[in-house]
Amino acid sequence: MPLKTKRIRGTRDITPAEIHKWRYVERAALETAGCYGFGEVRTPIIEKTELFIKGTGESTDIVTKEMYSFKMGREDISLRPEGTPNAVRAALENGLLGDALPLKLCYIQPNFRHENPQAGRYRQHTQFGVECFGAASPSADAEVIRLARDLLERLGIGDVTLHINSIGCPQCRPGYNAALTEYYETRSDKLCDICRERLVRNPLRLLDCKNDTCKAIAQNAPKTIEKLCGDCSGHFDGLKKRLDAVGINYITDPLIVRGLDYYTKTVFEFISDKIGSQATVCGGGRYDVLIEQMGGPPTPGLGFGMGLDRILMVMEENGADFPVPRTCDIYIGSMGEDEGIKALALSCHLRREGFIAHCDTMGRSVKAQMKYANKIGARFSCIIGSNELETGKLSVKDMQTGEAQAVPLDEKALAGFLYGK
Ligand code: ATP
Ligand code: MG
Repeated sequence: MPLKTKRIRGTRDITPAEIHKWRYVERAALETAGCYGFGEVRTPIIEKTELFIKGTGESTDIVTKEMYSFKMGREDISLRPEGTPNAVRAALENGLLGDALPLKLCYIQPNFRHENPQAGRYRQHTQFGVECFGAASPSADAEVIRLARDLLERLGIGDVTLHINSIGCPQCRPGYNAALTEYYETRSDKLCDICRERLVRNPLRLLDCKNDTCKAIAQNAPKTIEKLCGDCSGHFDGLKKRLDAVGINYITDPLIVRGLDYYTKTVFEFISDKIGSQATVCGGGRYDVLIEQMGGPPTPGLGFGMGLDRILMVMEENGADFPVPRTCDIYIGSMGEDEGIKALALSCHLRREGFIAHCDTMGRSVKAQMKYANKIGARFSCIIGSNELETGKLSVKDMQTGEAQAVPLDEKALAGFLYGK
């Protein structure tokens, strides 16, 4: 026997028994975003590698370590590791910024990152993302954060905590980076290898290290909010005022800096205490220079990515009540070939009417057919035998109560019976 091929590490299959949970969450996400005026965009899974080098940023973990990149002919291609660069590219390429601003886009999509698989961290994960282009006001930040919170509450996981911070802009960041570098240089012998590299390449990321010693050092590091320019600190104050106005509690957390190069001003994360160390279920922020950097007109922007794999983990942990999908409205059993053909024709008719109907396609005995009907949770069942064909009458049984009702052996009559239930 040849070895069975297994799925790739860090990827998952979603079986029919679980798909209703995903559909429920995805529908809630799109409906919530719809109420805020976000329109769904679908972009390709494969893009030119340069899109992420320019968009996500050359020095990010995603681009340096996590991208699935390959060459096809002369093209350098990558599987999409995150959604923002694609959304910006799609907006520019389709001229969407020329329409009414703000432009509000949302998506649900798989992203691919070659990281260490563990609970809540996969090599293919699914994100619900929103992007808002053109609005500079902190009202837009509050709107986007409220959207995320509305969805979390709708899904029954409003017990997550919102952490917010401001990481400044190209005007105030260099001053902050200098203060941060000075602080860390005197402690560089205690830092992990990666942080020693960050000290040179991307000092802001020092605050985000998961190593215990580095985490302790980060606690007393200078804070971004202490070095904000007037514009950035005004924006941050404006955001806090608006979060209060829309009824959102938050913690100002100087250690939230996010892993991407493009963020400016507001950054935020929703963090759960239910699912271990991969606890951030949603992360986002403002990126006021990204669109211009990617070749567009100077346009402010902001958004978030919500990890639906982690959202579902928190929901399971909370014992969420997922709506149970319909399984089978009626099982039409049969005995004999003509009877089986009648059952098939009847089932197909009922399906066109929107009912979930099953009939035997296995050549099973009546007893085995009824066992199957039970297993799939059929609401009603009936059996067509020679007697039923002759008399044109069916006995339809309610599988829960065992009660039987006579119904003419006729597609309209059977559909009428089910409509009445
Ligand atoms: P983390 O710090 O957990 O690595 P990140 O900063 O890399 O997260 P983002 O790029 O901001 O994450 O993505 C937004 C959200 O997508 C995260 O908050 C998380 O919920 C989810 N996410 C990111 N990477 C993964 C992954 N490998 N597996 C599952 N979910 C993920
Ligand atoms: Mg990451």
